[in-house]
Amino acid sequence: MASLFELDIAKLRGVGEKRAKLFQKLGAPTVGDLLRLYPRDYVDWTAPLPIAGAPLDGPVVVRGEIVSGPSEVRARGGMLLCRASAWDGETEVQLTFFNNRFISQMLRPGEAYLFRGRLTRSGERWAMASPAFVAQAKAPGLEPVYPATQGLSSRQIAAAVQAALKLLPENMRDSLPQDLREKHALCHLGYALERIHRPRDQEELAVARRRLVFEEFLILQLGLMQIKSGRREENLHRASGQYPEDFARLLPFQLTGAQQRAIAQGVKDMAGASPMNRLVQGDVGSGKTAVAAALCWVAVHSGWQAALMAPTEILAAQHYQSLSALLEPAGVRCALLTGSLTPKEHRAVQQAIAAGEVDLAIGTHALISQKVSFRDLGLVITDEQHRFGVNQRAALAQKGASPHLLVMSATPIPRTLALMAYGDLDISVLDELPPGRQPVETYLIGPDKRDRAFQYVRRRLDEGRQGYLICPLITEGETGMMSLDQYEALVRKAFPGVPLEVLHGKMKPAQKDRAMENFAQGGARLLVATTVVEVGVDVPNAAVMVIENAERYGLSQLHQLRGRIGRGGHKSACILINSSPETLERLRLFKSTTDGFAIADADLKLRGPGDFFGQRQHGLPPLKIAGMWMDMELLREAQKCARRVFYSGALEDGEYRALRAETRRLFEKTGGARVAL
Ligand code: ADP
Ligand code: MG
Repeated sequence: MASLFELDIAKLRGVGEKRAKLFQKLGAPTVGDLLRLYPRDYVDWTAPLPIAGAPLDGPVVVRGEIVSGPSEVRARGGMLLCRASAWDGETEVQLTFFNNRFISQMLRPGEAYLFRGRLTRSGERWAMASPAFVAQAKAPGLEPVYPATQGLSSRQIAAAVQAALKLLPENMRDSLPQDLREKHALCHLGYALERIHRPRDQEELAVARRRLVFEEFLILQLGLMQIKSGRREENLHRASGQYPEDFARLLPFQLTGAQQRAIAQGVKDMAGASPMNRLVQGDVGSGKTAVAAALCWVAVHSGWQAALMAPTEILAAQHYQSLSALLEPAGVRCALLTGSLTPKEHRAVQQAIAAGEVDLAIGTHALISQKVSFRDLGLVITDEQHRFGVNQRAALAQKGASPHLLVMSATPIPRTLALMAYGDLDISVLDELPPGRQPVETYLIGPDKRDRAFQYVRRRLDEGRQGYLICPLITEGETGMMSLDQYEALVRKAFPGVPLEVLHGKMKPAQKDRAMENFAQGGARLLVATTVVEVGVDVPNAAVMVIENAERYGLSQLHQLRGRIGRGGHKSACILINSSPETLERLRLFKSTTDGFAIADADLKLRGPGDFFGQRQHGLPPLKIAGMWMDMELLREAQKCARRVFYSGALEDGEYRALRAETRRLFEKTGGARVAL
């Protein structure tokens, strides 16, 4: 059996060496991979519509008997036209085909066909140009549509898949044991493969798909558990388990209950039998940094080093500033390591880290450079985690001996998805904002009201506040859009004499730092910026934000942006300028709530998980059939099943051999198994 799955695709009937290359390009070098190259869509031939009742705005399937034609005519210019008409018992449709001399032989008068194409209508005459068609007697049910590539059409892939399916033995082995299939009502693998490629109706497709989605989630989950269990063994960095009372005294504020809980959970983890693996999830402004600081304090007082990695230079610099201000007086030696240091500075910091003269190293991914080594790294923290991949996180962790891991994320992903993205970890939720926060008022206006928005901003500046003006980064003049330069000019004219900084992602890190610094210190009163300020930037005096072209952003992104204000106890306002009627409803919803989970939820429903949960960013193997959001229920069930199988030791049983092998294979391909989470 295994041999069939590993069979070179070039050995398959009808696939030569040349075409084999194209299949390789599609990720199917073997027959087994081909069988797992699932259709990305299906054309449903099962429910033809009456011609007169079918919608005209998209492709439809209709049924009809050939009542006249087919007949060929040469049009001027030599084009060959083939015409026929079909009758569905009530209505006739005119069919026209262009430059295809086979049609007249394929369509037989008096016979019934299914036609798929776009219907047009003028008066009582219906027509379809170049429809796809099949004889009704041979209707394929649901016709698979494969991810074709140049030189390899969907139909050619379908033919190869059919050849591969013929090779499957009658009684093929299933990778999922029978008891597991029965428990979760899953069909046999043979049936699933057959029917995912050749479903006769929607029901068969659903049964096949369910089985394959479940399997995919299960294998991924088992793989993540295995990786994590590699770290489960021993805690080489045992903290005393004392809640850091001394740390709390360093703070200029009282920790919230949620912060205290998260810190206590982290401290308990660090004192436990195995290393900490924890996600701290909290909306923007919930105070994740203080939690990180507390655990760093514990690490350093236990005699180890800690590292904090942030996705941008700005954020790393800001963490460095606030953490060193807080912790240096208590004897914690901090250092900042980013790409913008000179080689000499870089070397000096590296040496200090290696010698143990730095207790807390804060930086960007410069921290994972091979040149960086620690004397004894006991705690690794990554901030705004959704921007790092599994591998980057792992690379930093490998600089210590099973260090404790803390991941901080402002993306409110549901627990099920968090488990998927980060492995089987523990989660603390900061569900309580620090006191004294004024809820941000959100306004929605059209571009014609920009002047009034600017007037409002001016009033707030006069009161001593600062403001953000957000503009999408446009370089070439897209129609109706301002470039950042144009926008800056507009702002300078509207705010004469007001010191401002401009910040965008294409600037050099040092420039960015300078701009940000000047704004944070209050030198600049306005920050004209692209979404670089989305991540983590904290200027409590900034109390007003104007977002141009708000229609260009997802709600979660807007939420992150809005989270930059309302941090200092000042009355704060966020003004969205919307230029598209289509986004009005979506933005109204955004205006009505500040609940990050509700916003993420709405975003997912409206825009799909793509930009919200780019799983490739996590370094996870790509999913072939399952959709994280679409199949959430099944994901939950597979997670439960994975835990049961894994922790009961059942995975070691003989009947689980195939599943074990699949799990190993999945992570070998991505190199994931070699890294610890
Ligand atoms: P985030 O969770 O978005 O990273 P931060 O850690 O940057 O949030 O905290 C946001 C702001 O709130 C900071 O200015 C921080 O000093 C302040 N802060 C954090 N915790 C508290 C608290 N318990 N009480 C008052 N202010 C707090
Ligand atoms: Mg933060």
